[in-house]
Amino acid sequence: VLVHLGLGRWMIVDSCIDGRTRKQPALEWLATMGLGAGCVELVVVSHWHLDHVRGLSEVVAACTEATVVFSDAMRTEEFLYRVGLISSQPGSRRNVYSEMRAVMDLLLARSEGAYSVPPVRTAKAGLLLLPQGQPVVLALSPSETEVALAQRSLAAQLSADLVATAAPEPNHAAVALWAQAGQLGVVLGSDLEASAKPDRGWEAALRVVGRPAAQGLYLKVPHHGSFDAHSDRLWAELLGPAPVAALTPFKRGRIVLPGPQDLVRLRATAGSLYITASPARQQPYRPNDPLTSTMRRYIRDLAEAEGAAGRVTIRAPMTGCRPEDVTVDLGFPARRA
Ligand SMILES: [Zn+2]
Repeated sequence: VLVHLGLGRWMIVDSCIDGRTRKQPALEWLATMGLGAGCVELVVVSHWHLDHVRGLSEVVAACTEATVVFSDAMRTEEFLYRVGLISSQPGSRRNVYSEMRAVMDLLLARSEGAYSVPPVRTAKAGLLLLPQGQPVVLALSPSETEVALAQRSLAAQLSADLVATAAPEPNHAAVALWAQAGQLGVVLGSDLEASAKPDRGWEAALRVVGRPAAQGLYLKVPHHGSFDAHSDRLWAELLGPAPVAALTPFKRGRIVLPGPQDLVRLRATAGSLYITASPARQQPYRPNDPLTSTMRRYIRDLAEAEGAAGRVTIRAPMTGCRPEDVTVDLGFPARRA
């Protein structure tokens, strides 16, 4: 997610790679706009899922002026140990930990060797991410409880079979953000999930003090529209009436987000809803390519593993914060959902 914070200051939250061009879309877009990556002041790594960190080392390498901020759960020794261990396994393909290792190596080199631990800042609930708090970039999560639970989960993983076990569930330790330029407030939901407990998930995020009184005009829908991230209070208390909402789809094996029911729920809640690509499986890009034709002979249901990264550009004046002030521009295959 690329956010203009006003006055030529930009923020990138998480990263992906366009499945078709193999390029990092936020950097590509800045280049097309004639802006260098030097205008990026803040790079936020909300949590350590591959669909949020792919291409992150390219972002960090390009954005030499940016402060890099991780989720506070990634500060724990357990996380750093896991990064060191798994990224050094011979033959390990490009995974979350090798990507994070590349990022940390870049940051370490940038710190001129003064520190043994890369000079990263970490975000937890209630922290303002920019100096002087202007513009406002406020972390709504993770709460203290979520950081402690993530640490425990990482520690449990370390005592079991280290490589074969699945990654701990990092969604709960994700950094959700409130960003505000002038009167214009937006909520970037990351993959933060809902919880009935007051010290966890969106319930804890809504209790964060220090948030300006403004109501958000735009929501980056949390966790790819999944029901486990839905919070009525998030929509009612952080957002104004008829907010603009956008989401990114997620696919892995049989897990497809958002599901049809998720789209029904989100359409009923948002003023207008956009999605960067269809959640359905994407047909091969080059259907007549010899390799595709050969694979088709053996695989009945052939689809692209990674889709093209669509673009939803949402603009509104910093002074006006009504839904009618918003303009939306879509880049293929993004569409109205
Ligand atoms: Zn995700």
